[in-house]
Amino acid sequence: MEWPLTFQCNNDCISCIFDTRQIKNMGAPFTKEIKNTIDNVPAGETLCLTGGEPTLRKDFFEIVQYALKKRPNELLFIVSNGRLFSKKRFAEKFKKLSRQNLRIGIPLYSHDPKIHDLITQRKGSWKETVQGIENLAENGVKVELRILMEALNYKDLKETAEFISRKFQNIERIVLINLKYSGNAFINRGDVFVKCSEVAPFVEEVALILMKKGFEVKLFHFPLCTIRSDFWEMAKGTTKNTAELAFAAQCRDCRMKKECPMIWKTYLAIAGGSEFQPIRTASQAKAKK
Ligand code: SF4
Repeated sequence: MEWPLTFQCNNDCISCIFDTRQIKNMGAPFTKEIKNTIDNVPAGETLCLTGGEPTLRKDFFEIVQYALKKRPNELLFIVSNGRLFSKKRFAEKFKKLSRQNLRIGIPLYSHDPKIHDLITQRKGSWKETVQGIENLAENGVKVELRILMEALNYKDLKETAEFISRKFQNIERIVLINLKYSGNAFINRGDVFVKCSEVAPFVEEVALILMKKGFEVKLFHFPLCTIRSDFWEMAKGTTKNTAELAFAAQCRDCRMKKECPMIWKTYLAIAGGSEFQPIRTASQAKAKK
């Protein structure tokens, strides 16, 4: 279950899945409301605290502590831009809460500060995010580093991967994500949109490099026919919500339909579905290797 703790954010990413002009004045849930929700998340389910930027809440640590205490056996996942963790005391306070079942996902758009800051629309955000990741990962917190693929960063993905492997030895895993084109990402589609099939060769190359260096790598929301079959095992979706995801018409003939993470509806609205080619036979699946 995903739960936005606030819609306030210290970044204003051009590829944010929310329309940030619309949400910036939306109220945040009260602490009590959040605790009630935490109490009611079904056992066994992962709780994902998102935003906006959840660390901006004054009661952020109280909420994390509460969730960990109430759900000692389930994964607690936090999505953050990592900037506040650049402050040593803030990172250390979080580290004290660190448990086996706590993981934080932080997006890093590029090795190049200029590109990262261009996407976040905040000068200096790259520096803080990189420092934040370092302060957490080097101190035993489980960090999932997320790279969202978009027109502004995908061609430099190899350099970004090399930077990550040089800079961060201890991150838990790296996730390469096919962008969901809603909110700002849809509004700014002229700047950020790129086809899955264009991005895929870069993603495959980098996944191999990172795996060889010993990192666990996952690919999120890449329809299976856009990537080679030897990457299918690491491909998954974070949701199967049919309000957001769909198949193209020709998917009905695909033998991998059940396993496929599907296609964002907003992606289909921008680019149509002609690039998705059904995998009809086992040998065809093999031939994609
Ligand atoms: S043809 Fe459709 S179902 Fe098959 S892999 Fe591609 S997107 Fe998924």
